[in-house]
Amino acid sequence: MTPTKRPAVFLDRDGTLIEDVGYLDVIERLALFPWSVDSIRALNRAGLPVVIVTNQSGVARRYVTEAFVEATHRTLDRLLAAGGARVDAYYYCPHHPDGTVAEYRRHCDCRKPGRGLVDRAARDLGLDPERSFVVGDKWLDIGLARAVGARAILVRTGSGAVEERRPPAGGAADAVVDNLAAAASWILLNLQSTVCNPQCS
Ligand SMILES: [Mg+2]
Ligand SMILES: [Zn+2]
Repeated sequence: MTPTKRPAVFLDRDGTLIEDVGYLDVIERLALFPWSVDSIRALNRAGLPVVIVTNQSGVARRYVTEAFVEATHRTLDRLLAAGGARVDAYYYCPHHPDGTVAEYRRHCDCRKPGRGLVDRAARDLGLDPERSFVVGDKWLDIGLARAVGARAILVRTGSGAVEERRPPAGGAADAVVDNLAAAASWILLNLQSTVCNPQCS
């Protein structure tokens, strides 16, 4: 047991933190939802690491480069910082089994709902996935939460409203909410049962 491992929020990017524009391949199309900065700031204030975990198969499909994905994240950092918010780390999967770029064409363990990105973040940052939360707009995000033992929140932004109407067999989120702001509120309300206070042991 490692008591110092912290709970975190693993956050999907496209359709959850920013508008889903298909394959984001031009930086000018990057758009945060209007509530994203406040939502991230609230999680920051609660002391919860915020970690982006995102499938970016556009790299394997030759739509974007890894350099572009990383530049996008630096731009996101600037937009968030302007509102006093901070993402602690970004992890992305550039792979796809049908990719056209040989070096990225593979079955990997990091494409969500695979748990590779969360495992890497947990190792790097000392996080405890089982006391953590996953927020996303697709069932594969919920599948990721199930795979790592985290609590799962589906947001109705991006693909979420459509996804909500076609749940996979046996799939269920712990909460389905309108957007990231509501997800952040749900997390903060449910944090007590995750982070033990003195009388709960
Ligand atoms: Mg998404
Ligand atoms: Zn991968």
